[in-house]
Amino acid sequence: MKDVTILTTNTCPYCKMAKDFMTQNKIHFIEKDVNMDAQARYEMTSRNITGVPAFIIGKDVVVGLDKAKILELVDHRIVKCLNCNTSVRVPTKEGKINARCPKCKSAI
Ligand SMILES: [Zn+2]
Repeated sequence: MKDVTILTTNTCPYCKMAKDFMTQNKIHFIEKDVNMDAQARYEMTSRNITGVPAFIIGKDVVVGLDKAKILELVDHRIVKCLNCNTSVRVPTKEGKINARCPKCKSAI
């Protein structure tokens, strides 16, 4: 599964919208604030990213909240196990989710 990182700043309203969008769509992501995080700033300049929010999805970069593009690139969803309530990141293939809970081993 691809890792998803969002480059943000805490003053940008679109970054908040971007995070809400990810949460609503059950996408696991790591947030890096480019004003606080030198590593994130380096990542931004080295990839020629010109603005935030920027989404790094596997090897792809999406600048701006391009919802269709993001949903196309992301290959997982967060699913809660109905049995033990653990949040599990599972791969999505053709809209189907096939996985087992790592904790209680029941099908998700
Ligand atoms: Zn479980």
